Amino acid sequence: MSLDEIYTGHDVDLVRVATRLRAVIRPDQVRDGATETHLYRRDASTMSNTAGIVCFAESTADVQAIVQIAAEFGVPFLARGSGTGLAGGAVPPPGAIVISTTKMNKIISVDPVSRMAWVEPGVLNLDLSKQIAHLGVHFAPDPSSQQTCSIGGNVANNSGGPHCLADGVTNAHIHGMEVVLPDGSVTIFGGEEPEPDGFDLRGVFVGSEGMFGVATKVCVRLMQNPPDVATMLMDFASVSDGADLVSDIIAAGIVPAAVEMMDQLCLVAVEAFIHAGLPVEQAAALLIEVVGPARGVAADVARISELATARNVGGVRIAADDAERALLWKGRKSAFGAIANIKPDYYLHDTVVPRNKLSGVLDQIYAIVKEHDLQVLNVFHAGDGNLHPLLVFDGKEPGVYERVHAAGRAIVKASVDAGGVLSGEHGIGLEKRDLMPLMFSETDLAAQADLRRAFDPQMLSNPDKVLPSPATCGEIHRAPEGAWI
Ligand SMILES: Cc1cc2nc3c(=O)[nH]c(=O)nc-3n(C[C@H](O)[C@H](O)[C@H](O)COP(=O)(O)OP(=O)(O)OC[C@H]3O[C@@H](n4cnc5c(N)ncnc54)[C@H](O)[C@@H]3O)c2cc1C
Repeated sequence: MSLDEIYTGHDVDLVRVATRLRAVIRPDQVRDGATETHLYRRDASTMSNTAGIVCFAESTADVQAIVQIAAEFGVPFLARGSGTGLAGGAVPPPGAIVISTTKMNKIISVDPVSRMAWVEPGVLNLDLSKQIAHLGVHFAPDPSSQQTCSIGGNVANNSGGPHCLADGVTNAHIHGMEVVLPDGSVTIFGGEEPEPDGFDLRGVFVGSEGMFGVATKVCVRLMQNPPDVATMLMDFASVSDGADLVSDIIAAGIVPAAVEMMDQLCLVAVEAFIHAGLPVEQAAALLIEVVGPARGVAADVARISELATARNVGGVRIAADDAERALLWKGRKSAFGAIANIKPDYYLHDTVVPRNKLSGVLDQIYAIVKEHDLQVLNVFHAGDGNLHPLLVFDGKEPGVYERVHAAGRAIVKASVDAGGVLSGEHGIGLEKRDLMPLMFSETDLAAQADLRRAFDPQMLSNPDKVLPSPATCGEIHRAPEGAWI
């Protein structure tokens, strides 16, 4: 079935659908007023559409009832966590049922001995780590949005974060999940045992961007808090020196917990926001964290400092205590918000390049941005080669969106040409759906579409995402404050 058929083959009466929904879950959980459908039309990307009905699920049974009705009426539906996605993954197809998981926010059970916990999908990432901190454990994936993003969203997008360099992204931290499949049946993928029988459908579901059903419970892996930690801020007069140091460190056999880079414009914006004494005169800074037993941490700090000297490091600042460490991380994690000090609008890209190509691709990004008369802040997971160029602009400037679009496409192409990939962690969603052929052949895409149909023959679960389609699926509108690129 093509997307065209989904949208034109049904003349769905959403009032009837809402009435049916109110008969199976509490009426106050079903909202179809203008306020809710407007609020839930978009995520943190600049894309938007029109939601049909918003349902606030409180249990697996609620999700199952909603999905069964969606299947009965042939209405597209999608799960929505906190709506912090940056690739339009939670932008509803026109008239879709949005299933919000914000009220499914309970930590169901914690097993500190086996180091795992079952949680509902709406639990916020940072809340989980805070609530288990007294047990000396944490949930490792730490997106910069961790105060607000949900575990369900992390699973669907296979999200990363600064501290995923050594420990891996979300996929490495999920044992299993309960899922309401698109036909309304409930199943478990993976499980508590180390090697569950059968195909690794857990691995297939992680990163499936809401297209294979709705995760209603998630079994997460918990990591022991490290005995010692050192956080270093190193600055450089040249971006290339900083970028090349990243490869030197890994080549020396050290895998830090985190290696993050901020370039000068970013340092300036963040410093104005947090006043942490950041090296704003320098071209770039690396925020590096090493963890482990105290002697190992001290040895790593010494070796990294030595390697940095060979790359002409300027200053080396080592956080003296937890308060200083927290301040430095606050700077890194609030960078996207801090850009408001420079321009009112931004468009954030997310590509990955081989680590040893970082400095070359960064040079290309600066050249592309100059050519399009724009400004860029680079703040990114350097250890993973995961670039986040933030194009900053004033949306009111005539013609600026065209330049931002063109620069964005050139940056994605430069990354892929360097042997990189379209997305490191934000997902494909709507944003990069039509760029998939840059990386995948027709055969690859057909195999992915077959897998998707195996989960969802009716193609109702977040149907317009990830896989490019010649069929249109409704107009994607530019949000008033942004643009769809
Ligand atoms: C300031 C900022 C910083 C960010 N930093 C990072 C970062 O460092 N690393 C990173 O990886 N991302 C980052 N992001 C992106 C975003 O926060 C992550 O992708 C996050 O995991 C999305 O979670 P969410 O709950 O907001 O999901 P949503 O935006 O609500 O949804 C995202 C996708 O997940 C699907 N989904 C949600 N819940 C479920 C479920 N229960 N079952 C099935 N599918 C579901 C949705 O359908 C959608 O396709 C950042 C975003 C912002 C705004």
